[in-house]
Amino acid sequence: MTETVVSYAQNQPKALEPSRYWHTFSDMNVVSKGPKFVVARAEGAWLWDEAGDRFLDGTSSLWYCNVGHGRVEIAEAVYKQMTSLDAFATYGDFANVPALALSERIGAHAPVADARVVLTCGGGESIDSAAKIARQYWSVRGRPEKVHFITRTGGYHGLNGIGTSLIGMERFQAGYGPLLADTSVVPHDSLEALEAEILRIGPENVAAFFAEPVIGSGGVHAPVDGYFAGVSELCKQYGILFIVDSVICAFGRLGNWFGIERFGVTPDMIVFAKGVSSGYLPLGGIVVSGEIAEPFWNEPGNPLHHGTTYAGHPTACAAALANLDILEREDLFTVALEVEAWLDYALRPLADHPLVREVRSGTGVMAAVEFTPEALASGITSAEVFTECRARGVVLRAVPTGLLVSPPLITTWEQIDHLVSTLRYGLDAVADRHSA
Ligand code: PMP
Repeated sequence: MTETVVSYAQNQPKALEPSRYWHTFSDMNVVSKGPKFVVARAEGAWLWDEAGDRFLDGTSSLWYCNVGHGRVEIAEAVYKQMTSLDAFATYGDFANVPALALSERIGAHAPVADARVVLTCGGGESIDSAAKIARQYWSVRGRPEKVHFITRTGGYHGLNGIGTSLIGMERFQAGYGPLLADTSVVPHDSLEALEAEILRIGPENVAAFFAEPVIGSGGVHAPVDGYFAGVSELCKQYGILFIVDSVICAFGRLGNWFGIERFGVTPDMIVFAKGVSSGYLPLGGIVVSGEIAEPFWNEPGNPLHHGTTYAGHPTACAAALANLDILEREDLFTVALEVEAWLDYALRPLADHPLVREVRSGTGVMAAVEFTPEALASGITSAEVFTECRARGVVLRAVPTGLLVSPPLITTWEQIDHLVSTLRYGLDAVADRHSA
């Protein structure tokens, strides 16, 4: 039996079909009982639902659609690849041209000395791979006790096995029993806290430190001045691998290849995903320095005891190569710096809104609008503002403390203006409703 419900945009009825689809990251007790927001089509920074209503994609889907939606060039590259070699694994000495080409291109641009590239299907898988590479590296170097990982408050490193242990947001760890024991989280902007934790654990036990260039899902926190230079120094001083999680920040989101260039440091590994293919097909990977690769590449008997079926998937790599062509041809890293400035300029005035505690923007095409503790304590939720905005045609991301914004790099000034004025309208509407 179908029930008639009301769509978000223009009160057009939508049929609600019972569905078996289990939305992850979602409360199915709510989602399974309401209408679904079925995205039917997308082009540039716009989405359309089944009723034909148009929405601005203010989040690049989930931080990934850097070149915008509907790029026929990527679809054609995928078609061409799939009709010549769809897929074949890269175990042993098997290779394929797109995987080799993509690794060369990524490695050539990465701020990592003598880069080697491992490919995977996404961000969390890459984080777990990087952690295992770090531990195996120390093991083959005769330091098997170096297993501890340090991460930061607000840090998000995917939700695979190790990533779930590394996360700096406890709500994602509840319900899973004992996680990896040898991990700890330090405040995200404190070098003193990092050094104190290294000394507490003992540097001889610490394998690696993980950090996002700008914390994304944890609320868009750019580093304080000099932070990463200090991190890099501490990691060198204490013999700890410095692993940068650029899953969000790479491929233009910070106006350059890997995000971390902005802070002038050279890590041991960089984890990437999302923007590498703008999400047209799932892909991720790890850039590993020559020094860390050395025992695996140049010493006998040390294969990596890790890998996945789809590593180096030729069709996913072909999509990524076409995506990189667009990023370079359209100079989207430079464009991103302009969009970053527009977003910062448009969002800043919202800091005066009574519901808003702080606007964090100005480092990358990413921003957070954090609510005041008073507003949150009074029962106002970011989900309400999210719903108001979506009903008026703008998709944002609600997190417990506020809203996150991360549009595609091709977003125009008019679209940014539309996004921010809709957000202001949404904040006003929710504030009015609660004060009535
Ligand atoms: N690291 C960071 C910084 C991320 O933002 C994400 C995803 N949002 C991940 C890792 C995990 O990526 P995936 O969801 O592809 O596993």
